[in-house]
Amino acid sequence: MEKILISACLIGDNVTYNGKNHLSDKVEALLEKYELVPFCPEVEGGLSVPRNPSERMKDRVKMDNGKDVTKSFAKGADLALNICLYLGIKIAILKENSPSCGVNQIYDGSFSKKLIKGQGVTAELLRKKGIKVISENEIDTLL
Ligand code: SF4
Repeated sequence: MEKILISACLIGDNVTYNGKNHLSDKVEALLEKYELVPFCPEVEGGLSVPRNPSERMKDRVKMDNGKDVTKSFAKGADLALNICLYLGIKIAILKENSPSCGVNQIYDGSFSKKLIKGQGVTAELLRKKGIKVISENEIDTLL
């Protein structure tokens, strides 16, 4: 079975900043065709659950309390890439809007719930390295 990297929150792991998940109702159908490899770049990058929410502004990522967490986000992205390379993963399904995982849009860095066109740090790195990155809204294209 082909392996796919997937944001851990999409398969129900409680790893979001507020300790919740974004379980996708497409996971069961995906599991019939693929081996899913769950990964949370923010947790793997060293951040806790729960944690303050973060937003990306250009090349920096900051928490809502002003703490610069750019290094943690970069570490999480590097680890995601390493897993993809090690396991021969060519597709990643990542959670839309996240400063790590966002595929087509992210929050604008003002913590005012404003979405802008953009991508998360992990999504950007994986794409740069040739991995196909889609959001949970595009899962049907794989089924
Ligand atoms: S970093 Fe990605 S996997 Fe982790 S909680 Fe946020 S969206 Fe989900």
